[in-house]
Amino acid sequence: MSDLDSFKEAVLKDAPRFTENDKFRFSCNEGLSCFTQCCADITIFLTPYDILRMKKRLGISSDEFLEKYTIVPFNKKQRLPLVILKMGGDENKRCPFVSPKGCTVYEDRPWACRMYPLGLASPKEENPAKEEKFYFVMEEAHCRGFGEQKEWTVRKWLEDQGIAEYNRMGESFKEITLHDYLQKGGDLGPAKMEMFYMGCYNVDKFRRFVFESRFLQYFEVDPETVERIRTDDLELMKFAVQWLKRALFNEPTVKVREQLLQTKIQELKKKEQAL
Ligand code: SF4
Ligand code: SF4
Repeated sequence: MSDLDSFKEAVLKDAPRFTENDKFRFSCNEGLSCFTQCCADITIFLTPYDILRMKKRLGISSDEFLEKYTIVPFNKKQRLPLVILKMGGDENKRCPFVSPKGCTVYEDRPWACRMYPLGLASPKEENPAKEEKFYFVMEEAHCRGFGEQKEWTVRKWLEDQGIAEYNRMGESFKEITLHDYLQKGGDLGPAKMEMFYMGCYNVDKFRRFVFESRFLQYFEVDPETVERIRTDDLELMKFAVQWLKRALFNEPTVKVREQLLQTKIQELKKKEQAL
């Protein structure tokens, strides 16, 4: 069992379950001796929206962000590629974005950094609607923030950290990761895994794929959408999810051009006649 699996098992078994109305005491501030110490040697999974926010903040492309700041771990049990923030190569493995004054990308920090010290768990990840999700508090010994007097409800903390926007943006991503095909044990081959990686995490590469290949000759995309996705990363990210549903699961979410279909049908008919 991996460390992550053991952690999940322990949370589900032992962690007190918090609702949005439950309270905890916590404050993270520059006056604490532990300030910024926790931004090192940690596993932070990045969502597509995390990457979008951070690459924009840094003024670089998603290709460059992925190359410089992430790793993609892989094990045989894994069904989809995951992206992790790469810690620095120094002795303490510090996050590349931490400074003595705190997080240098604070306004655009990832979902996981916003949530801390809260965690979110679901007894049955693949079907969160059926089983109640719950929050838990990760009270770590080195974290002095728990000795502070500031009191929060879970709801207030989530509001303060701007979590709702991140959750909203994550919804369309879940249409892929929690898709029935995958939940029922379906596998994606290497080519489809590549498509997933590009569509979800590398928005600039996906844009080149749409505008610098025969994509728009093959698929019917209305002109307003074409204009929106040309310049707007968020719109492109949403469109990528629709395209992935077609490319990975053969759903009719993006239409193949009628004329192209007819040509293909005629080609097939000719082949059949020639046999
Ligand atoms: S260890 Fe806790 S209190 Fe200290 S910097 Fe990290 S989150 Fe803040
Ligand atoms: S992104 Fe910011 S908050 Fe998150 S680990 Fe790095 S420095 Fe800390």
